[in-house]
Amino acid sequence: MDDKVKIRCPACARVFREKAGRIRDGVQVNCQNCNKLITLTKETEDPFLRKALKAARELRAAQDAAVFAATYSRAATAPKREMP
Ligand SMILES: [Zn+2]
Repeated sequence: MDDKVKIRCPACARVFREKAGRIRDGVQVNCQNCNKLITLTKETEDPFLRKALKAARELRAAQDAAVFAATYSRAATAPKREMP
């Protein structure tokens, strides 16, 4: 599963990828192309950064769902009680 989201640098306009686990509201990341410090906040005017935050949140939710599904499928394979 791809755990990275794309971030468009507001300074050089190039796209780089960062792990979704790192992308949270208020977090700062360096652009991998021009090394500019980018502050990721949902209050940003930059629609690309807002999109990156949203994508990261959705990706983490999907990962949580995958963990839940794996846990549930293990429970489902446990011996079941016979119905009367
Ligand atoms: Zn840049």
